[in-house]
Amino acid sequence: TQPSSAAADPAAGAAVKATDRAHVFHSWSAQGLIDPLPIAGAEGAYFWDYDGNRYLDFSSQLVNTNIGHQHPKVVAAIQEQAAKLCTIAPGFAVDVRSEAARMVAERTPGDLDKIFFTNGGAEAVENAVRMARLHTGRAKVLSTYRSYHGATAAAINLTGDPRRWPSDTASAGVVHFWGPFLYRSAFHAENEQQECERALAHLEQTIAFEGPQSIAAIILETVPGTAGIMVPPAGYLAGVREICDRHGIVFILDEVMAGFGRTGKWFAAEHFGVTPDLLTFAKGVNSGYVPLGGVAISAEIAATFDQRPYPGGLTYSGHPLACASAVATMNAMTEERIVENAAEIGEKVIGPALHELAGRHPSVGEVRGMGVFWALDLVKNKETREPLVPYNASGAANAPMAEFAAACKRGGLWPFVNMNRTHVVPACTITEAEAKEGLAALDEALTAADAHT
Ligand code: PMP
Repeated sequence: TQPSSAAADPAAGAAVKATDRAHVFHSWSAQGLIDPLPIAGAEGAYFWDYDGNRYLDFSSQLVNTNIGHQHPKVVAAIQEQAAKLCTIAPGFAVDVRSEAARMVAERTPGDLDKIFFTNGGAEAVENAVRMARLHTGRAKVLSTYRSYHGATAAAINLTGDPRRWPSDTASAGVVHFWGPFLYRSAFHAENEQQECERALAHLEQTIAFEGPQSIAAIILETVPGTAGIMVPPAGYLAGVREICDRHGIVFILDEVMAGFGRTGKWFAAEHFGVTPDLLTFAKGVNSGYVPLGGVAISAEIAATFDQRPYPGGLTYSGHPLACASAVATMNAMTEERIVENAAEIGEKVIGPALHELAGRHPSVGEVRGMGVFWALDLVKNKETREPLVPYNASGAANAPMAEFAAACKRGGLWPFVNMNRTHVVPACTITEAEAKEGLAALDEALTAADAHT
């Protein structure tokens, strides 16, 4: 069904933008250099502006709306909960909070059966790190350079993305290392098996020289997302699990982006047969309809705080509206086979189509991904793999990618763009027809990138 976009009303859009520019201070932006698009509405795989332009959402709003926009069952659940109980402090037992925790625990791997709720991904990472430090009595935490873990105090330091640089002065206890990424191998590896072996050896050496007795945790995105959707080689995560066990290090998997259907399974860890000690989630748990995140905690770590208080909490932890929307989201995803849809569309439609585009477009250096979680690594030269735009901390001077994004938007497609990459990350609910519509627009827009090769 085609969503009906509201009648164009450019004057209303201009008014929204004027007030935004006067009073809203935007994330990650030079406030004077941005031009935010006023949005009038959204439904399913689409959203639209006030000028009558409708966009197929290939970004899922920061890789978040796994269930699509305005899912009627989730909207109804929020409305019903609002009529019943809008808010209650985290210390009480409440039906929707209990049920949301039970349902998350049921879906996470292994014995991750206790859920600490937060308002989003960064707070989940902050609390996972705190739990690991208190559990082990150790201070250091290891994370990879090609990663994004959030923008709060510990989370931004753990983040390997250059956006952490301005916050690096306070990076107490964080050590970065290289994760596996064959296309731009830090280890001069020639195949996935070599990359895996060398990345594990590099991690072992890093631990040896940092001192294993000082390391509380290793945190990894199961499939690193913002940094480039780099599916790890077979055996890598199992290898990290073994290293953590050997050294008494807590293994944290950050599934804020990869979780809840994005990779075609409830959690990406399932693809690799690995269970972490702590698993962070947010985004897809309720598609961000109400802010929600959390940490799923192993029995062993939960036991640490059985007779000793956990020193952390949030006024809105396990917020009833957020939990009601999470319950409705997980139920709808199960009833409507939405995780299965993500797997099937990825395998049968998106993956093959992206590989076909890579064969025809000189700017597409590599295609990576699974489910509805794909990246095109855009290059100036396929032989040298030189990125289409240089790596930089500010996102400035990114003209070729800006031209590519503008071409997508002219074609009715809203892309996700980061550095020299575009990520194809539509809702897990996307239909074959919608995916094909978006892929055709992407094909057209890539000619703008080809012009810079
Ligand atoms: N971890 C990962 C893997 C993420 O992708 C993100 C957000 N992109 C975060 C943590 C931070 O989540 P939030 O923006 O909700 O704080």
